[in-house]
Amino acid sequence: MQEDIARLIELQKLDLEIYRIERALAEVPQSLQRAKRESEIKAERLNKIEATLEEKGKQKKLFEEELQEEQKRLKQTQTRLTQIRGSREYQVLLREIEEMKRTIRQKEEEILKMMEEIETLEKDRDKILEELREINKILEAENNKFEEFKRELEEEKKRLLQRRSRIIEKISAPILKKYELISQKKGGIGIAGVDNGVCEGCFMAIPPQLYNELQKDNRYYECPHCKRLIYYKKIYHPEEKESPPKEVSSKIQ
Ligand SMILES: [Zn+2]
Repeated sequence: MQEDIARLIELQKLDLEIYRIERALAEVPQSLQRAKRESEIKAERLNKIEATLEEKGKQKKLFEEELQEEQKRLKQTQTRLTQIRGSREYQVLLREIEEMKRTIRQKEEEILKMMEEIETLEKDRDKILEELREINKILEAENNKFEEFKRELEEEKKRLLQRRSRIIEKISAPILKKYELISQKKGGIGIAGVDNGVCEGCFMAIPPQLYNELQKDNRYYECPHCKRLIYYKKIYHPEEKESPPKEVSSKIQ
C-alpha cells in the first residue's frame, strides 16, 4: 500500500464532504423560499390596497370640499331669495336652488358610497395585514432555522478543512498537484478505485495489462479514459462491504 494513495483516498472523501457542505450552504431551503414568496405577495397586495385607500381618501376629501362649497352657495342663494322683489328673478333663483339641492344630494350619495368602499378596503387591509404578520413570523422562523443550519455546516466545514490541511501536508507535492488539477477538471473527483477491472471514476474498463500492473501497486497509475488517478480497490479497501464512509475515515485518521 502506498501512503500517498491512502492519503489521497482520504483527501478525496474529505473533498466530497466539503463539496456537499458548500452545495448545501448555497441552497436556500424550499420552505424558506416559499415563505419569502408568500410574504412578498402579501406585502405587494397590502401596498396596492393602501395606495387605493389613499386615492379614495383624497377623492372623498375633494368631494366633501365640493359639498361644502355647494352648501355655502345654497345658503347664499337662499339669503338672496329673501331680499328679492321681482318675481321673474325669484323664479330663476328658485330653479337655481333646486339645482343646487340636487347636486348636494348627488354629492352626498357619492360620498356615502365612497365611505362604504373605504370601509371594505380597510377591512381587506386589516385582514392582509394580519396574514402578513403570520407569514412573516413563519419567514423569520424559517430564516433562523436556515441560519442555524448554516452555522452548523460552517463549523463542520471548518473542521474538515483543518483535517484537509493536516492530510495534504503529508502528501508529496507532485501527486497532490496532479490530484487537485484533475479534481478541478473532473467534477471534484481526482482519484478513483478500480474494481473488477472497471474505473469507478468513469465506469470504463481498464486495459488488461494496466489492470495487472495496477494490482502490483508499486507506482501511480492513471485511467486511460478519464485521466484520474486510479488504485486497485482490493488493496485499499480489502474487506469493503458498503461500509459507511465515517468508519473508513476514522481508520485512516
Ligand atoms: Zn476512468
